[in-house]
Amino acid sequence: MAKKATKSTAPRPEYTCKDCAHSENWHNIGADGQPIFCDCKFQKWCKFLKHDYCEHFTKR
Ligand SMILES: [Zn+2]
Repeated sequence: MAKKATKSTAPRPEYTCKDCAHSENWHNIGADGQPIFCDCKFQKWCKFLKHDYCEHFTKR
């Protein structure tokens, strides 16, 4: 892949951990009644369901 000189914000993926088949153990229910975090077996720490994604993403 070609290197780009500009350091713009990384393009957001179409999906986040919320849509990942690997996300599990959703927890920390927020004010809207929706869980905020999930565990990913590829990650050391829990992930934001709606913000994070990882290189092992698989559409659920
Ligand atoms: Zn993941």
